[in-house]
Amino acid sequence: MSTPRLIINGAKGRMGQALLAAAADLKFPVAAAVDAGDDLAAALALGDVVIDFSVHSATARVIELAVAQKKSLVIGTTGHAAAEKAKLAALAAQVPTVWAGNFSVGVNLLFALTRRATRILGADYDTEVIEMHHRFKKDAPSGTAARLLEIILEERQLAASALKHGRSGITGERPSAEVGVHALRGGDVIGDHTVMYAGIGERIELTHKASDRQVFARGAVRAAAWVVAQKPGLYDMQDMLGLKD
Ligand code: NAD
Repeated sequence: MSTPRLIINGAKGRMGQALLAAAADLKFPVAAAVDAGDDLAAALALGDVVIDFSVHSATARVIELAVAQKKSLVIGTTGHAAAEKAKLAALAAQVPTVWAGNFSVGVNLLFALTRRATRILGADYDTEVIEMHHRFKKDAPSGTAARLLEIILEERQLAASALKHGRSGITGERPSAEVGVHALRGGDVIGDHTVMYAGIGERIELTHKASDRQVFARGAVRAAAWVVAQKPGLYDMQDMLGLKD
């Protein structure tokens, strides 16, 4: 792994501050720390890889500038609509890019375990995803929950219309071809995710709880070191950690 010069976008935010601390701790030089209103194009010229943890509306410009200046990308920002994300991902693939809804090793193991559990348990086990985050979070469900749901839908061969966001009123019995999604918000919770499989007579729960933002920040800084050595293309943490089937 080389030691790239980092450009941190969203530097004044919770994750931005965690990234600056992780870069210092892991001894990676920060060429520029950028937030809303700063000159991102000028900042990009100073470094090798942009780490973006800002807001979904800022991602398009980050990618356009990185492609124009042939810089690598690490994107952690969440909250993009599916169609918007597909368009942006195609553009980002012109440079080496790691795009992940969650940069923790534990959550990436949870993704792999969820794929395996869903494959083994199938339609006999009602599947629900529950996430909880701090009261300041602006999007729901979380990017991590969205990825867990994608994996479950793929393995169960269900369309996105199978997702059931919360329940209220006379809902009727639960169809097996439904995947429940529940976003809890409150306090300072950094990020909890549970995938629950409820069968007749038993229940399996896969749970990950993050207790420190550093886990994402250190993962993102490591991804920056990894991605600068890759060919142009779109990668995720599963690629970096060798967790692909
Ligand atoms: P935050 O609100 O604390 O910080 C966002 C920062 O982005 C703010 O400082 C804001 O001023 C800045 N910003 C807004 N518009 C900008 C622009 N146009 N250009 C540059 N900066 C701009 O949010 P946060 O908790 O730090 O989270 C940031 C993002 O990272 C969210 O989308 C969150 O869901 C995501 N996140 C991802 C992971 C992961 O592992 N992938 C982990 C945690 C958070």
